[in-house]
Amino acid sequence: MRPTDLNRARDLLLWFTAPPPSETVAEWCVGQVVFDEPEVKGPFDLTGRAYMVQPLNDNADPAVSKVTMVWGTGLGKTICFISGALWKIVHRQPRGLWVMPSTMGANGTANFANSRMIPAIKASPALLEKFPKDRHKVGGTKIHMNGAVIDFAGANSAGQLSGNRCSDVRCDEVDKFPPNLKDEAGSVHQAETRADGVIGAQIFISSTPSIETKASWTSLMKSNLMRRFIPCPRCGRSDPSKNFVMIWNDQFCVLPAKFPDGRLIPVAKIKWDDTARRRDGSWDMDHVVRSARAICPHCGGDVVDSDMEWCDANGLWIPTRAGSDANKHQGYHLPAMYAPRRDFKSSFGGLAKNFLEAKSSTDGMRGFINSKLAEVDSAQEFGGNQIEISSTPISQPDWVPLLTADFHKNHPYIWFVVRKWCAFKLLPPFPIADGKPDFVKLLDAPENAPAKARAELLVAGCADAWPVFGELMRFASLKENDPVTSFLLAQKITGGKLIALSVEKGADFRAAIHAEMGLRMPKGGDSELLAAGNLDTSEQRLWDDVADLVKQFEIGKGMPIPHRCVGIDCGYAEKFNREVLRRCFEAGTEFNFYDPTITTPLPVFFPQPRHNFCLVNPSNSWYAIRGVPVMKPMGKSKINHEIGLTVSDPFYGSAEAGTRVVETIEVPTGLFWLRKEDIRQGRTKHAYSINPNVSWFPKIGRPDGTASDESNFRFEDYERQVNEQRYDEDKGMVVPKHSRGGKSSRTHPYHLDDCETYQVALATHHEFFQQETKPKE
Ligand SMILES: [Zn+2]
Repeated sequence: MRPTDLNRARDLLLWFTAPPPSETVAEWCVGQVVFDEPEVKGPFDLTGRAYMVQPLNDNADPAVSKVTMVWGTGLGKTICFISGALWKIVHRQPRGLWVMPSTMGANGTANFANSRMIPAIKASPALLEKFPKDRHKVGGTKIHMNGAVIDFAGANSAGQLSGNRCSDVRCDEVDKFPPNLKDEAGSVHQAETRADGVIGAQIFISSTPSIETKASWTSLMKSNLMRRFIPCPRCGRSDPSKNFVMIWNDQFCVLPAKFPDGRLIPVAKIKWDDTARRRDGSWDMDHVVRSARAICPHCGGDVVDSDMEWCDANGLWIPTRAGSDANKHQGYHLPAMYAPRRDFKSSFGGLAKNFLEAKSSTDGMRGFINSKLAEVDSAQEFGGNQIEISSTPISQPDWVPLLTADFHKNHPYIWFVVRKWCAFKLLPPFPIADGKPDFVKLLDAPENAPAKARAELLVAGCADAWPVFGELMRFASLKENDPVTSFLLAQKITGGKLIALSVEKGADFRAAIHAEMGLRMPKGGDSELLAAGNLDTSEQRLWDDVADLVKQFEIGKGMPIPHRCVGIDCGYAEKFNREVLRRCFEAGTEFNFYDPTITTPLPVFFPQPRHNFCLVNPSNSWYAIRGVPVMKPMGKSKINHEIGLTVSDPFYGSAEAGTRVVETIEVPTGLFWLRKEDIRQGRTKHAYSINPNVSWFPKIGRPDGTASDESNFRFEDYERQVNEQRYDEDKGMVVPKHSRGGKSSRTHPYHLDDCETYQVALATHHEFFQQETKPKE
């Protein structure tokens, strides 16, 4: 081992064994970093720049090996870099390499160190006190102080980029780096290799983007691609789920429109008054500037410059991309709309003016897209807006089986119901561009070739059929096994015939197709019983048998997280069955982190722990279900009628308590029992049926130990259980007709009735009950 390696090993040991600092990197920077540049003077300030907190804190996170920041101008990328590097000089003693473009001439890198980095060191007391006595160690292209070594290098210099291994590599404005250094790999890659094999090394990449083949965009697309979600200042103050990312408009956003699980990313677009356009087609610029704002996609409300400080302070970075290395590679995308409002240029009005002026020239537009929107200029070629035509149907899956179970401490331990629900949701209409639904252009991607072929068969060369095809795709898909499109193709109801059907039936188009197919149109909230009964099994095999049921009945098939379609009763009110919580926890295989210091009505989860108090949460566990009482309305107080989502500690009372949580659905049982009864008694329009081949449990065992298909449990037994409870108006709760508990509950059990109530609750939680999505005004 070389001495430098020994030193490094010692530093790492100190790093990993040191008590966790009481301040985060961001907090330390606010208290300690002072800038002294012509344009940035004074203490580091996060006002209007809370978006910097997480990228700064990444400097102290050993789980983060790479950070990519693709930000527009005016957002402070370099300030973020300098602050993080100063924190590291004091706390980590890195061996660092700082690479920048060589556009400032041969002395550019030295100029950067001398004009930005070193003045900040001298102005920040925590660094000044560590300033070396030998002043030659700081200046030019190096900073050697407090055990830290940072060398500055130009991106064009292969010689400067090769050398010792580094624990901290920062590449600033990488899209201005030369793509190749002679025949060697690109300079970013070459700088990155300096960190190869160095334990705890971190690489930071930043740039305003240019084109998608350049370093910053390719790096961002390999990261977890976090975007900045801010709550709506109008409708999001009490409901943080009313949040969104800001984009300029659809045309200038090439980032994916959906989360990896298929949910649409809510976007707020920039708008100004239509009346700002004069009769001759030109813009009244004062009017544009005055009225420019973002529009909330949830309430349609205006988001204006004076809202932005609050929005920023309450924003969150949320990953929009899943990937193999996504956990360790943090990507931050941020357009200029998020910048602190420090001058006219950073306001919505200033950006709108800049946009309209840029529109008059192609080059200007490219500049606006790159430097303000932090996007690449290749909306057509880059298939970022994919709606995953090849991988998932455009419309929702039709039928999804849910499993709900009731656990007991005595044999038979588990009673359960499997019921499949019609999960149908009519999608909002697709925007039409050039006479075709906007997603049609995505069919040209090679992976969508089968879908494209099917689409062309449906349209049958009839150009006017494209909008009808768009209507069809709100409830059918292009998958080969989709019943609706298969039927239409088989019956040759395509092209002109499809148009005729649509014209004749209008709003009843979907029902008409189902009528042609000889089917009642399934309705969201329809359901059918597939299996019910109990598991006649030993305590040891119990949970394996539950897992087998989940497999056998394909619980959650077609849903983004199938395990979320399993709900197990873990108690009522304050009582918890920890074993159920633990089993639900153990069903999870992927994890995120719950921050108990954030008190919002719904728990918030993060891909990385934000601090030492964050708790591990499985993001694909089964749900624990807990019944809660329905409070009677008192004066103006509300009835508790909503399903709640909360977290519970599966290890409460054990040595592992306080380290993990599991998501728990809270169900006001009285209300959902009544809702279930309304559906069961046919008082709603929903179908509530029993499959002709319904499977009763337990199965009768054969002598050889295997199970037959027969059961002694019968429909009558099921029926008796679901008729065993009634709603007590006075108590506001569901009570058994015979007395509760003990012998009585064994002779007059009602476990399956509880399971059926939880079925309705779980289906409601998944929004399976029909909600026609109204098009936004
Ligand atoms: Zn809103």
